Amino acid sequence: MADGTHGAALAAFRGALGSIPVADDAGTLRLMSRDFFWFSPILKPLLDDKRADLVVSPRTKDELITVVAAAARARVPITARGGGTGNYGQAVPLEGGVVIDLSRLDRVVSVAPGVGRFEAGARLLEIDRALMASGQELRFHPSTRKQATLGGFVCGGAAGAGSCTYGQISDPGAVIAVEVLTVEPEPRLLELTGPDVLKVMHAYGCNGIVTEITVPLAPALPWAEAIATFEDLTTAARFGQAFTEADGIAKKLVSIHDPRIPPLLRRLSPFVPAGHAMALVMVSEPQREAMETIVAAHGGTVTWRRGADDARRAAFEGEGAIAPIYEYSWNHTTLHALKVDPSITYLQLRFQPGTNLDKVRWVETTFSDEIWLHLEFQRRFGRVTCSSLPIVRYTTEARLRQIMAALDAGEVAVSDPHTYRLDHAGWKRVDAPQADFKRIADPFFLLNPGKLVVPDAVRQAVAR
Ligand code: FAD
Repeated sequence: MADGTHGAALAAFRGALGSIPVADDAGTLRLMSRDFFWFSPILKPLLDDKRADLVVSPRTKDELITVVAAAARARVPITARGGGTGNYGQAVPLEGGVVIDLSRLDRVVSVAPGVGRFEAGARLLEIDRALMASGQELRFHPSTRKQATLGGFVCGGAAGAGSCTYGQISDPGAVIAVEVLTVEPEPRLLELTGPDVLKVMHAYGCNGIVTEITVPLAPALPWAEAIATFEDLTTAARFGQAFTEADGIAKKLVSIHDPRIPPLLRRLSPFVPAGHAMALVMVSEPQREAMETIVAAHGGTVTWRRGADDARRAAFEGEGAIAPIYEYSWNHTTLHALKVDPSITYLQLRFQPGTNLDKVRWVETTFSDEIWLHLEFQRRFGRVTCSSLPIVRYTTEARLRQIMAALDAGEVAVSDPHTYRLDHAGWKRVDAPQADFKRIADPFFLLNPGKLVVPDAVRQAVAR
């Protein structure tokens, strides 16, 4: 589409939009056709020049329905976009067409004790701001809390700050319901509940446009932040395990870093003596001392503390020299590291509970020059383990693939972040009949084309 071969379809589509905001200037098209795929030296050259033909920004659900109906009639490809913070080109329009910017669909629909319903374009930080009055918050959020939307998190994300207590977005009960708009000349709104929410979860927006989401809420505790240092990664990892397992202490972040990482996090490095491993922690303020007792029991030292009021101001008002501490964990670690050393890249690893600390040690020693681990602790199904988005010294694609194969063979699960194809996303694939649901939600295969491996013959038959 981007080459103008479907100009007539686009003109018909545009003619149906009325007063709905639409942009086609080069700057907006570039900006809204990108995400953070450039973290990957493999994806960057593949996706850098992909562009939408139009960006449409509906302000209400009715406007969204008008946009989707017009695109379905004109058979124009659609790519849904939330905050555009995905890491694998999920929101990049491979075949041009229309990017639908959902960030204006950002209303709080309802809030009650333990549950909230929000429009899909609501940003996670703004949801938590709106929830303050009820003393509640989202159970967990990616480190991109400020930019990412709830719809983007459900359709493209996995876990984050809070996962040390509440697990991952695909775990049972983590999403109570989603409302999905089908892509047809007469679009329908479908409500999916229970395990059916998995039909759109982590489906990269290929299975309908999510309009509203109901999620469980947690009590908003006064989250204090701290940095603790340890003599090596093994000791810090043992602390991470013990602290996450200490169920009596309310916590929101347990992030453990190889000694080579703090120097890449410039604002934090003054608090970490050279050669020391680091733990980033969010803990309920009245229980800070209990956390510090566990640090001391592992020979660690707390080198930096920020009280809950200041931490809240850092997150919600951008105050203070140090960003909210979660913005140095999860995949923010890669972002900071890339600013210092653009030659690095990253992987996504998951360790099995029970053997995770042994396997961490195995990765550390086997790939000592190439992989720098940071461990994000999680509690899932009653057990504590960690995942990692390690920094990887990149040489060639062949070597990167060799490393991934060796990790898989060593029973460390790899989810390849260097592919934009949904079908190749490793352990992040969810257990749901997503292909069957696609036939219902997107019968003309217009959604995010190129992300699912759909045989060309099938698409051509549908197009006819
Ligand atoms: P987008 O990037 O806009 O979209 C993601 C996918 O969902 C796309 O395929 C898009 O088409 C689709 N989509 C978006 N909205 C809708 C909708 N309403 N209906 C249908 N499809 C839709 N991820 C984590 O899980 N945990 C982390 O801690 C984390 N840390 C990160 C740190 C950095 C620095 C970066 C760059 C990324 C990180 N990510 C992380 C990835 C990403 O930020 C999250 O997955 C985030 O939730 C994506 O939300 P978004 O609104 O930006 O989605």
